[in-house]
Amino acid sequence: MSGNSNNQAYKDLRVVVLAGGVGGAKLATGIAAVMPPENLTIVVNTGDDFVHMGLTICPDLDTVMYNLAGVNNTEMGWGRQGESWRVMESVKAYGGPDWFNLGDLDLGAHLTRAQMLNDGLSLTAVTQHLCQQLGIEPTVLPMSDHPAPTMIETETAVLPFQEWFVKERWQPVAKNIQLPENSKSTRDVALALQKADLVIIAPSNPFVSIDPILNCYPIQANVMDLPRAVVAVSPIVGGDAVKGPAAKLMREKGLDVTPVAIADYYGDLLDGFVFDVQDKGLKGSFSVETRCVDTMMVDEASRIRVANDVLAFAYDLTQ
Ligand code: GDP
Repeated sequence: MSGNSNNQAYKDLRVVVLAGGVGGAKLATGIAAVMPPENLTIVVNTGDDFVHMGLTICPDLDTVMYNLAGVNNTEMGWGRQGESWRVMESVKAYGGPDWFNLGDLDLGAHLTRAQMLNDGLSLTAVTQHLCQQLGIEPTVLPMSDHPAPTMIETETAVLPFQEWFVKERWQPVAKNIQLPENSKSTRDVALALQKADLVIIAPSNPFVSIDPILNCYPIQANVMDLPRAVVAVSPIVGGDAVKGPAAKLMREKGLDVTPVAIADYYGDLLDGFVFDVQDKGLKGSFSVETRCVDTMMVDEASRIRVANDVLAFAYDLTQ
């Protein structure tokens, strides 16, 4: 726990977290541990969603959900703990697609979601139901109720996100990241942002997790105009991504792989930026207010420590 004297003060503020999967889920879980649930909303990227074997799969929503419920698989870093793979073995034996692993417990969520969507419920309503069943108290919202797929343009093809990320193991050079035009957010997201005092941008991938959220009208405009402070956390630590393709995408975009480049990328959206102690030498290079802390979230205690540090900094910016 941080010894910051503002620890109690931020609890009265209304907080919206923008989150992708792994990095988003880690910070969201830390924030959920220190904020009253009624003051916390987590808006999650659905640009990674796809229909696979007839089921709508929402990887980032599920990662956030499983982490908040404490049923996430800490060894694999995705999916559920205590998972088994009997259905996948059977799919494989039938010659079905096996490039995207769906565990038996995980499939319970996908099947329930598919049924509820088929019954005409919105993704927002389905997510609320799944979260309730898992005992999750903060509000978790998809960025949109409609498909808003992120596409990756490579040298040879335009691939749906999961085909690039999982099937191709994010190796093909991303020439361009295509976000849909005219994607719209939901009433619930708009209301949460209208009431928000703080918006925290998790250390998620800016290009394929946060940009798709901001691209849903009118989220970017609301984040720009409404909260008292907007703070992002760097996913780049010590010259590399902690996990996944963020650093590779930066190189392919011609950006330096530094937290300064991440802060510059978000630009005017931000009132403050949190970067890691491993990069403390960069302190004077930012054009936004910063706080330098240990951002590595390796267990529950460090998630809570980072959450406290980020919220205390954001609170200070509102004073
Ligand atoms: P994805 O949708 O599952 O790829 O996950 P996100 O986009 O939410 O998060 C991926 C990003 O989180 C990567 O760029 C990582 O560098 C970053 N990340 C993961 N764990 C940590 C951590 O403990 N600290 C920091 N600062 N960043 C992290």
